[in-house]
Amino acid sequence: MKRARMIIDGRAEDGADRFASINPYTGQEWATVPAATPGDVGRAVDAARGAFHETWRTTPGVRRAQLMTALADLLEAHGDALATMESSDNGKVIRETRNQMTFAARNLRFFAGYADKIYGRTVPLDHPGMFDFTRRRPYGVAGIVTAWNSPIALLANKLPAALATGNTVVVKPSEHASVTTCELGLLAAEAGFPPGVVNVVTGDGAVGDALTAHPGIDKISFTGGSATGARVAEAAARRLIPLTLELGGKSPNIVFDDADLDRAIVGAVAGIFAAAGQTCIAGSRLLVHRPIYEQVSEAIVARARAIRLGDPLDPETEMGPVANRPQFDRILALIEAGRDDGATLLTGGHAAEGPGRGLFIQPTVFGDVSPDMRVAAEEIFGPVLSIIPFDDEDEAVRIANATDYGLAAGVWTRDLDRAHRVADRLEAGSIWVNTYRSTAAQAPFGGVKRSGYGRERGEEALAEYTYVQNVMIDYSGSARDPFSIRT
Ligand code: NDP
Repeated sequence: MKRARMIIDGRAEDGADRFASINPYTGQEWATVPAATPGDVGRAVDAARGAFHETWRTTPGVRRAQLMTALADLLEAHGDALATMESSDNGKVIRETRNQMTFAARNLRFFAGYADKIYGRTVPLDHPGMFDFTRRRPYGVAGIVTAWNSPIALLANKLPAALATGNTVVVKPSEHASVTTCELGLLAAEAGFPPGVVNVVTGDGAVGDALTAHPGIDKISFTGGSATGARVAEAAARRLIPLTLELGGKSPNIVFDDADLDRAIVGAVAGIFAAAGQTCIAGSRLLVHRPIYEQVSEAIVARARAIRLGDPLDPETEMGPVANRPQFDRILALIEAGRDDGATLLTGGHAAEGPGRGLFIQPTVFGDVSPDMRVAAEEIFGPVLSIIPFDDEDEAVRIANATDYGLAAGVWTRDLDRAHRVADRLEAGSIWVNTYRSTAAQAPFGGVKRSGYGRERGEEALAEYTYVQNVMIDYSGSARDPFSIRT
C-alpha cells in the first residue's frame, strides 16, 4: 500500500487524518493520502511566504534554472515509477502517462531556460534628464489547484513558469489522484529546492477552497471544471488577486471532404478516445462534411469497436477505465440523455464488461447529432463522440462556435486557403490543422469563453506569474514645480 505524504516547508508529513485512493481498474484501495486541515494549508502558505521573502525571490535565475533542471532529471529518472503510480491512481493508460512524465520534464527544461532571461525594457520618455525602465517581478506565493485526469502534466503547465519567474508555490491536487504530485514534492526536495519553495497539500475540494481563499496567496492558477472555476474566480475577486483558469471544453473537430481521411480518422479517434475522453481538449464534437458523412462515421465506428480496453498498466491497452465513480455515473447519464434526445447510437452506449473490476465504458459514438442536444452541448469528459453533419464552410464554423466553451478545435483539409480561413474564424485558444491533441512546451495553451483565461506554456506563461514594475528616474538634477504633475 502506497503511503503518500504532503510536503510542507520541505518536510514530508503524514497528516492527522488520511483517506484512501482507489485504483479505478482493480476497484481496490492502493494508496492512502493525508487529509490536510485548514491549519496544514496555513502552514504551507506561511512556509511559501517565508521562502519567497527569505530565499527564492533573490535566488539568481541561473540557480533557479539549475534546480529546475535537476528536478527534470529526477522526473525522467523516476518516469516509469511515476507513470505506474499515476495510471494506478486515475486509470490512464501507461503509454500516455509515460509520455506525460517526459512532457513534464521537457516543460521544466523549457522554463529553466527563461529563469535568467526575465528581461524588462528601457522606455524612451519625452523628457531629457529622465530614465525609465521596466522589470518583471514575481507575484509571491502561487496557489495551484489541479484536476485528477493528468495530475503531473497539468502541474507541469503551471509549476515551471511559476518557479522560473521567482514565485513559490502551494499545490493542491485532486483527492482522486494525489499520489504523483506528492512524489514530485519529494523530488523537488531531493533536487535541492530550499524548504518552502514547493509545498503540496492534499485533500478534497474544501482544501482547494481553503487554499484559494487564503490571504497569504498572491496568485491562483486553477485547472478543473467551469463551475468550480467560477467559484475560484469569486475567491480571487474577493481578494483582487490575479488568476489563471484552465477549464473545460466541447471542442469541435471539423473534417472537410478534401481531407486526408486516414489521418482525419486517426485524429478523430485521438480526440475522443485517448485517455477515455477524459481530457479538457477532447474533440467531442466531430463535424463532418455531408458528402463524406457516411464514410467517416463507418470508419470511426469500426475503429471504436476495435479499441483494446484493459489494464492501464499493460502497454498494449488503448483505453483504460474512467477515473472514478462519480465520473462513471455522469458519463452514463449523458449517454442516456443522447438517446432521449433522439441521437442515433452508432456504437457503444453502455458500461463495458471490461477486465478486472474496472469502471469501463464502451467507446460510444452518436450520429445525426444536432447542436442543441445535450451530448453536443455539455462537456461529458468521457469516451462519447457526437458526429454532426454540415453542408458548407459557413455552417461548419457556425456550429463549431455555437458553444459556451472555447478551448480547442481541429480542422482537417488539404486546402491551405480553407485551413487559414476556418482557423481565422474559430473561437478557441488552440487550433490544430491536420493534427489533434498535439502539444509543445513552446506553444501557448488556454481557452476563451467558459474554457477560462490566461495562458500556460510558451513565453506567454511568464506573464501569468509576473507583474510589470515601472521605474522612473530623474537624473536632471533640477527641482520641479511641486503643484503640477509632470507629463
Ligand atoms: P473540479 O473542478 O471538480 O476539480 C478541480 C480541482 O479543484 C480539484 O483539485 C478539486 O478538488 C478542486 N476543488 C473542488 N472544489 C473546489 C473549491 N471550492 N475551491 C477550490 N478548489 C476546488 O474538476 P474535475 O475534477 O471534475 O476535473 C475535470 C474538469 O477539469 C473538466 O471540466 C475538464 O475539462 C477540466 N480540465 C481542464 C483542463 C485545461 O487545461 N483546460 C485540463 C484538464 C481538465 P477535489 O477533486 O479533491 O474535489
